[in-house]
Amino acid sequence: MSDMQRFKRVLIANRGEIALRIQRACRQLGLETVAVYSEADADSRHVREADVALCIGPAAASKSYLDMEGLLLAAKVTDAGAIHPGYGFLSENADFADAVEAAGLTFVGPTGDSIRMMGDKITAKRAMRDAGVPCVPGSDGPLPSSAEEVRAIALEVGFPVIVKASGGGGGRGMRVVHSVDELDDAVVLTAKEAQQAFGNPTLYLEKYMQKPRHVEIQVLCDMHGTALWLGARDCSLQRRHQKVLEEAPAPGIPSETIAEIGERCVQACRQIGYRGAGTFEFLYEDGIFAFIEMNTRVQVEHPITEETTGIDIVAQQLRIAQGETLDMRQEDIRMQGHAIECRLNAEDAATFMPSPGTVTRWDLPGGPGIRVDTHVVSNYTVQPYYDSLIGKIISYGATREQAIARMRVALAEMRVEGISTNIALHQDLLADPQFQAGGVDIHYLERWLAERS
Ligand code: ADP
Repeated sequence: MSDMQRFKRVLIANRGEIALRIQRACRQLGLETVAVYSEADADSRHVREADVALCIGPAAASKSYLDMEGLLLAAKVTDAGAIHPGYGFLSENADFADAVEAAGLTFVGPTGDSIRMMGDKITAKRAMRDAGVPCVPGSDGPLPSSAEEVRAIALEVGFPVIVKASGGGGGRGMRVVHSVDELDDAVVLTAKEAQQAFGNPTLYLEKYMQKPRHVEIQVLCDMHGTALWLGARDCSLQRRHQKVLEEAPAPGIPSETIAEIGERCVQACRQIGYRGAGTFEFLYEDGIFAFIEMNTRVQVEHPITEETTGIDIVAQQLRIAQGETLDMRQEDIRMQGHAIECRLNAEDAATFMPSPGTVTRWDLPGGPGIRVDTHVVSNYTVQPYYDSLIGKIISYGATREQAIARMRVALAEMRVEGISTNIALHQDLLADPQFQAGGVDIHYLERWLAERS
């Protein structure tokens, strides 16, 4: 089998907890790893444990983790055969995926063409509609330049609407519009922001759903036509369109409903020739799923699906990239129990401002059903240059109640000193009766925060 491998050494083009997560999967599969790091990340944990480690530039991501040529050169000099992009940075950059393959290396992810199609939310929605996936109603394509025509579209869709950047991501580049008088200004402003942030001013518009939940479907597809869905995750607890706490499965949604939408997703994957791991994101309201976008990479919240299915998603990404066939069928996938993930951020508890600094104490929780994915160790310095995510606590239980109980104990055990974190926020959320009842909508957390302040 090992002689058939396309690659034996993987360059991990990322940092933080996901770099360590990918490194673990590589090592378990007997693959060597190359760690690349910025000057700010020299003493990171995965750098120490890599077979080869290479500094690729200064702290600024644009000069290190986003430097395509630097990364390709690093792969060449270290003799890596594949590049795993993780999430964020270059993970959804179609040109990078193409450049990796053009250099004769394997990109651990879908083809550049798939990434391109899904990275443009307008083409993504079109492709999904064609593949029979239900979408949020809206402008069927880019907004025209005439303000009058935009108004006509918005009135037909019906207010409130949400104006979104076709090239947007990370919860940025969208604006809710409640009435027709606000529309012209909102379009001009969002287009300007989209141009600045994503280099593309193209906008589209959707019905703004009032009380939806964010429910997403994880898929895995090999290069030989097998496409599987691994159940749903509920990521409704968000602040500023950013996920805070996720759980699997989505509470209260019948498993037949999930199976139905899961089948639609994998059918779409087969139709577009998708390969690798991916996530279909939906808004769910009144029993109806409406597609918003697809992420063509591993997601931060992938561990809760790993816990409920027993499938190592990152190892499967690597196996798929080797050209192997998925060694399971849909009917073999058992979704069991319940998992919750709390994202730990280095941020001020009241203002949510990033709180970089040196972690002087870092005591992790443990016990049955508790998993912690983190790159942080005692005396680690959280850098100001990157995302404030410092780790994830994942709890698993036979029931949702057990997963919640285990998470509450884990959060109480966790000790962090030297920096501020959002642990107290998670504790308060888990104690909240509405959260405990399950099925809160995407605006719940912001309403809850507003009431507390
Ligand atoms: P991004 O790529 O920036 O994450 P998404 O399109 O996935 O953007 O949307 C992120 C979040 O914004 C969703 O999870 C949801 O909370 C909110 N959102 C997006 N579209 C709508 C909509 N049509 N109605 C209501 N909320 C929406």
